[in-house]
Amino acid sequence: MVLVAVLGSAAVLLGCSEKAKDVRTSLKDSNVVFIVVDTLRADHLPLYGYPKDTAPFVTSLRSHSVIFDRAISACSSTGPAMASVFTSLYPSQHGLITGILATQRLVKSNPENPTIKISRIPVPLKTLGQYFKEAGYRTFGVADNLNISEQQGFTKGFDKFATYRYEGAPTVNRTLREWSSEIKAAGRYFLYVHYMDPHAPYHRRKPWFVKGASRAESTLNAYDSEIRYADEHIRELFEMFNLDRNTLVVFLSDHGEEFGDHGGSGHGKTLYREVIHVPLFFYHPSFTETRVTEVVHTIDVLPTLASVLGLATDAHWVGKSLEGFIPGSAQQRFAADSRPVFSQLLRRPEHEKDPKESVIHERHHLIVTPKRDGRIVEELYQLDEDFVEQVDLAAARRDIVQGLAGKFRELHEKKPGIQAEEVDLPLDADAIRSLKTLGYLE
Ligand SMILES: [Zn+2]
Repeated sequence: MVLVAVLGSAAVLLGCSEKAKDVRTSLKDSNVVFIVVDTLRADHLPLYGYPKDTAPFVTSLRSHSVIFDRAISACSSTGPAMASVFTSLYPSQHGLITGILATQRLVKSNPENPTIKISRIPVPLKTLGQYFKEAGYRTFGVADNLNISEQQGFTKGFDKFATYRYEGAPTVNRTLREWSSEIKAAGRYFLYVHYMDPHAPYHRRKPWFVKGASRAESTLNAYDSEIRYADEHIRELFEMFNLDRNTLVVFLSDHGEEFGDHGGSGHGKTLYREVIHVPLFFYHPSFTETRVTEVVHTIDVLPTLASVLGLATDAHWVGKSLEGFIPGSAQQRFAADSRPVFSQLLRRPEHEKDPKESVIHERHHLIVTPKRDGRIVEELYQLDEDFVEQVDLAAARRDIVQGLAGKFRELHEKKPGIQAEEVDLPLDADAIRSLKTLGYLE
């Protein structure tokens, strides 16, 4: 009986992939919508096996999605991670290394007129908005994370862009509703939507929040209720713009979140799997459900869009097109697991924490922390056997550690020849309050 059912569904899939031939033809006139849900761990979505139904609407999109089971982000902090999506470069290459992060010391030493130095995406680099603008799309964006700002170079090329300091999904959707007739006017559009709700502080969203047996469990339940809350607003977004029609939707997160997995909390502090493994899928009504188990990276998103939409490519990009993984594509899949992918948590001198870099290659994950006293701490995990990264193999497998360490040298040699840029960001009392609430003040 089971065998018959499996054969039956295989036949249906074959039929669908016949129809889906030539993916580029079906996408050519589509609108493109990015949905970013900040701080969303992949493993807290039912799509990635989470037993709680945190996202019924997002789950319902699976039947028309190409879902990447192992998508890695360039950083565990918003600014650098999203700059990598916007430029298809790693943080050491695009130069936006820390995002908005102030130190208490700095604010105290300059109470009259506090400013922080922030790095921005260098002007010569073409970013997501510019890229779609030049390709003839009208471009709109709403971000509920203050890092996705004009000062940091994210809004270039957008006809209209609004940045909020975590006001919540209703504000994002209200803004989009106000703009909706303009967005839906004739011609193709590109829309960037960045929800912030799962980011701390975690609100206890009714009716989904359930008190846990412990404080830690209640915290986790509040985080899950925020995902459910975001899911409700994503449903509303789909209805507002009829995204189930003629739209290529890219769904992803910038990074995950720690809940004691390695003893810590939050994000932007480590590069363990729970903060760099992010949800990533492409949804289009012409797609059939496809799971990709190879390791891919969010720097691949922009080259993939260029490839499937038939747009120009950029010589700076280091990501690769994932078009070959989409059913109906004429492109070959590339051997994604044999390509090293990187995450970087670099630090400005005024931030006292240690920088970190990580590389994943052939299912091994090496995390390197150069300490200020000159020591280098290495950790090695085997992702197939130990996806939760509890068994450090660095001492036992020096051969693998040395092989992977060589990959960092290759990365650092591959520079696009662009200088990082810095700007001063003045902080008013409101901004300092926001930074404290969001944990952006050390
Ligand atoms: Zn973030």
